[in-house]
Amino acid sequence: MTHELRELYQEVILDHGKRPRNLREIEGARHKADGYNPLCGDRATIYLTLEGDVVKDASFVGKGCSISTASASMMTEAIKGKTRAEAEALFERFHALVTGEAPAVGAPALGKLEVFSGVSEFPVRVKCASLPWHTLKAAL
Ligand code: ZN
Repeated sequence: MTHELRELYQEVILDHGKRPRNLREIEGARHKADGYNPLCGDRATIYLTLEGDVVKDASFVGKGCSISTASASMMTEAIKGKTRAEAEALFERFHALVTGEAPAVGAPALGKLEVFSGVSEFPVRVKCASLPWHTLKAAL
């Protein structure tokens, strides 16, 4: 990764960490799950509204480090409009990215979520980045 790209990635993560999107409860959400990462102390509650099989709305509340907050923020943006299966495929792809594994054949494109690729160099941060996604899976 070039130095410039790394800085850009850090900027995006910092931005979402400071000004998280979709940071709110969804009242009466039927899909909701709590996640906790004891290694760092990150907590996240994920709320989802599904219409049929499609994620219509996604939000989160919680307290965590900037990586976990940015990850929750960008995840809630990324999964809106996706089907349950598409959201789970994105989770698998994201997990491969942050753990430094090769993506599965036919894996979906990550788009902006690529900014988390640097996390694979910091094993202790992998759980921060993946906490919202594990919690999402539980909520689905
Ligand atoms: Zn953390």
